[in-house]
Amino acid sequence: MRIRTIQAKSILTPQKRGFLTAGEQPYTHSLSWATGCQFGKLYCGAYCYAPMLPNWHFARREGEAWGDVLIIKANAAELLDEQLARARNRRGMRIFMSPVTDPYQPIERKLRLTRRCLEVFARYDDLDLLLIQTRGPVVADDLELIAALPYAWLGMTIETDRGDLPYGPARSHVERRLEAVKLAVARGINVQIAVSPCLPYSDLFAERLLETGAQRIVIDTFAIGDGSRGRRTAQSPFAAVADYDWRDDSIAESLYHQLDIHHDGVAWSGAGFAGIPGRRRLV
Ligand code: SF4
Repeated sequence: MRIRTIQAKSILTPQKRGFLTAGEQPYTHSLSWATGCQFGKLYCGAYCYAPMLPNWHFARREGEAWGDVLIIKANAAELLDEQLARARNRRGMRIFMSPVTDPYQPIERKLRLTRRCLEVFARYDDLDLLLIQTRGPVVADDLELIAALPYAWLGMTIETDRGDLPYGPARSHVERRLEAVKLAVARGINVQIAVSPCLPYSDLFAERLLETGAQRIVIDTFAIGDGSRGRRTAQSPFAAVADYDWRDDSIAESLYHQLDIHHDGVAWSGAGFAGIPGRRRLV
């Protein structure tokens, strides 16, 4: 993968519409310190919607495909500090990190850009929410920092517990993510698991999710979650290799009902993602 570094002009992007605002507790901003994603050539890159968004098309060079290049905003932490310092309504800020890249992709171990952003957040104790959304077990390196932020939630994507799907995650990666969630919960961090998009799963999946102790579990589907009733997914490389009917929402609905009997923090699709109560509404 090629790495390009830029000096960005802004790091917090206001959210006015779209999936981050689809629920009763919408996000006000997103934070992505890169354009592109190191996981882009892995299984999830085959159905990722980020390469269909304008910012990728404007940032990439001709011939560059999703997963070929990572364009890093090297001044992300400094910009974040500036933007938080001058924010007029910091108490109302609800930040989603990150919708178009992964804050704990492997290169984070070298760059520590997410860590530097967390160190900036640590200087401000009055935000409403920071959701750190990842598939990367590398997040376990930063649990101490996350635990110290009174408004932080960890969002961990776990689409399935099966490691034998040709279009799904490796078994070892699933296990490491489940373990990272358990470690986070043990540290007192609020965790929202995102089964997004829900892939075929084993009979034990619901039990394994419940065992983690996560406060919330959001289930999403390709047909609902891609924001176009499946049109985006149908154009993705995933649709060509999937050996089951990915438009069939009943697979996800069944998991939802299995979990909902035992857990009062189970939520559905966009309304679920944008449904984390603000910290002032929790007390
Ligand atoms: S981790 Fe997220 S942003 Fe990165 S390729 Fe996978 S789905 Fe896309």
